[in-house]
Amino acid sequence: MTGAPAISGGPVAPCSSGKRRYATRRAARAALIQVRARRRAAVRRAPRRASRRPMERALYACPACCGWHLTTSRP
Ligand SMILES: [Zn+2]
Repeated sequence: MTGAPAISGGPVAPCSSGKRRYATRRAARAALIQVRARRRAAVRRAPRRASRRPMERALYACPACCGWHLTTSRP
């Protein structure tokens, strides 16, 4: 009775990938735009430190949780 993702639209357990889960492509896209804007601001403040971390650049549908995640790798 564990491990089955709830697709009922209610609160959902985090994905086994450990990544933050978005219910819809739209939500993931909005989050991606927000994350990237925050990253650009951080890079402006501390270019050396911020540019060392990879930037989220894409979103993908996750077969494990039927949700969407952001990824730092190219699609
Ligand atoms: Zn997932």
